Amino acid sequence: MRDFVYLRPRDTGEAVALHARHAPGARYFAGGTTLFDLMKLGAEAPATVIDVTRIEGLHGIDTRRRDELHIGALALMSDVAAHDNVQREFPALAESLSKAASQQLRNMATVGGNLLQRTRCAYFRGGPEFACNKRVPGSGCAALGGQNRGHAVLGGSEACVAVYPGDMAVALAAFDAVVDTLSPRGERSVPVRELHRAPGSTPHLETVLADDELIVRIRVPRGPVGRASTYHKVRDRESYAFALASAAVAVHLQGNRVAEARIALGGVATRPWRATAAERSLLGRPLTRAAARRAAELAFAEAQPLSHNAFKVALGIETVTDALMLAKDRS
Ligand code: SF4
Repeated sequence: MRDFVYLRPRDTGEAVALHARHAPGARYFAGGTTLFDLMKLGAEAPATVIDVTRIEGLHGIDTRRRDELHIGALALMSDVAAHDNVQREFPALAESLSKAASQQLRNMATVGGNLLQRTRCAYFRGGPEFACNKRVPGSGCAALGGQNRGHAVLGGSEACVAVYPGDMAVALAAFDAVVDTLSPRGERSVPVRELHRAPGSTPHLETVLADDELIVRIRVPRGPVGRASTYHKVRDRESYAFALASAAVAVHLQGNRVAEARIALGGVATRPWRATAAERSLLGRPLTRAAARRAAELAFAEAQPLSHNAFKVALGIETVTDALMLAKDRS
């Protein structure tokens, strides 16, 4: 690991000012569960690390507003997963957190950092001997002709097919959550659905955030669609593994017909992936298993499997179908 300057600001204003003063090469540090991994691997080498963990006001969950749940960027994954309101109002969000990583990591990792976690593509993390456009722009993509069993079938490009590895962002995308950020240019809000970029020809640019932009909170809209929700995650083992396919699904039924449906996919796409055509196909109809299956097939209609991951299409269809039936049972 390369030497770096360590700074600990007292508030968010000082944090973004320090970032501006030490740019380029400055990085915010929260739980450290991703950043320090990548620094040890040489995939990241910041000259300055700005520790925001002691800043007041970025922790905790605020349930006082009727229309939104506010989650501080430094709230721990384990605390959010165990929170009564989250479990009751947004089961898919609680499950996405409790099925991520390990208990030890969830006790350290923050929700803000979790949103920005980087790919688990082995070539990206493997070192400079592998071609990787995400790590070294223009160097190529070893995964396209190599081991791509865990890679994306949706949203890939000729430059990169790495899967977005997170779970929570998939649930947040389903719930139309928004992140509030602060930078030297002021505050702004970004929908989670627009936070992560498709790789296109610039896979090294993973989100729409600027380097100096600090996530301060996540806002989750409250409403009837949250309660009948689930996060269904299929992986090689039942603990401490990334999704091969996952689905955050929520439904709101009126009578036996679907008034609202949300379907977001994880483990199969280059970014948290909302399946809007699949959602529309359910509206106004009874939620039968056949209707759920049709919607699931629509969600994967544009899938482009690679040499080793065609199984993800069938697996993803089963995952979405089962998730819809589970959400129906909770409605
Ligand atoms: Fe790099 Fe993306 Fe290719 Fe993986 S899939 S080697 S991250 S360019």
